[in-house]
Amino acid sequence: MFDQFVNFVRDVFSEPTAFIPLHEPRFTGNERRYVMDAIDSTFVSSVGQYVDRFEEQIRDYTGASCAIATVNGTAALHIALLLAGVKRDELVITQPLSFIATCNAIAYTGAEPVFIDIDVTTLSLSPTKLKSFLDSHTEVRTGNCYHIASGKRISACVPMHTFGHPAQIDAIVQVCRAYHIPVVEDAAESLGSTYRGQQTGTFGLLGTYSFNGNKTITCGGGGMVVTNNEQLGKLAKHLTTQAKIPHRWAFDHDHIGYNYRLPNLNAAMACAQMEQLDMFIAHKRHLAEQYARFFSNYAYQFIQEPTQSQSNYWLNAILLNDRRERDEFLEFSNNRGIMTRPAWTLLTKLPMFENCLRDDTTNAQSIEDRLVNIPSSVILA
Ligand SMILES: *Cc1c(COP(=O)(O)O)cnc(C)c1O
Repeated sequence: MFDQFVNFVRDVFSEPTAFIPLHEPRFTGNERRYVMDAIDSTFVSSVGQYVDRFEEQIRDYTGASCAIATVNGTAALHIALLLAGVKRDELVITQPLSFIATCNAIAYTGAEPVFIDIDVTTLSLSPTKLKSFLDSHTEVRTGNCYHIASGKRISACVPMHTFGHPAQIDAIVQVCRAYHIPVVEDAAESLGSTYRGQQTGTFGLLGTYSFNGNKTITCGGGGMVVTNNEQLGKLAKHLTTQAKIPHRWAFDHDHIGYNYRLPNLNAAMACAQMEQLDMFIAHKRHLAEQYARFFSNYAYQFIQEPTQSQSNYWLNAILLNDRRERDEFLEFSNNRGIMTRPAWTLLTKLPMFENCLRDDTTNAQSIEDRLVNIPSSVILA
């Protein structure tokens, strides 16, 4: 299969010789026009019409009633966790298979992650394993959930929609509701992916997106917090803008705030990218179909969108049979100019988080051993 794979990718990307990256951005719309316009307006920083317009586009697209633009997805997640009420020395549930930013944002609040396994069908937090962990290790007292052995409060749960594929998010939200745990969705990778017709990122109390250079759409660097809670939406805007009390000239602040507001210059690019999001996703879904057809001829599983879901297919992925074969495939494809990449090292193995609480991680381990991401950029005719 390895040889045929290389030929297939070169053929699909119409790229007979040059290097084929894992994911590169496309600037085929109004990017230059809007960025030049932002420069001409002199409003390049934290105030300007493009930041407001970008937030409006995200509200319209996702259906969330509030959207607050931030400098990146990690900052968005940090703010969302603070607004969910996460405090120092508390516990936040997440999955062992995620990008480091998920755990870093938890650590910024002074809380510690608790790792619960993923499902192999979604690659995201398993609602069944979440429920069995909560059933056996926690208790609810005065409207809060406590981990019995440590006595610590579990103040949030952060599922992540891995590679753009929706988690079983309604089941996760339902389990968490029974235990009074707010859900903050790390939807950094899944803008435009839906579960039962609803946009990922809008199921929890808060959700966050990323517009880093490798994501489905990008503005260089950027992020967004979304919520349907108007009060939290207002607080998110306040905290991301140095907690300044709005006034025409006075500088008064009522909180320790953050300089997390997305610059208007980046937002200009984001507005142009948003106009193309549906077109990008259509192309990405078409590429995924081609991959699925190709891999159906071989004994390798191509990761497809879970049931009841529509995925943006941010990063396509396949499963090899074991870690040794995975490494052979990585070696073979990268040597031939086709960029492929293993899954992230499990967060439970990193020195900063290896001593954190964890449940069984069998599924995450199997995915770490076998999964490889394959080229996934939008192919324009
Ligand atoms: C990209 C990403 C983020 C946020 O990344 P930024 O680079 O800070 O925008 C957070 N979580 C996951 C899972 C991601 O993939």
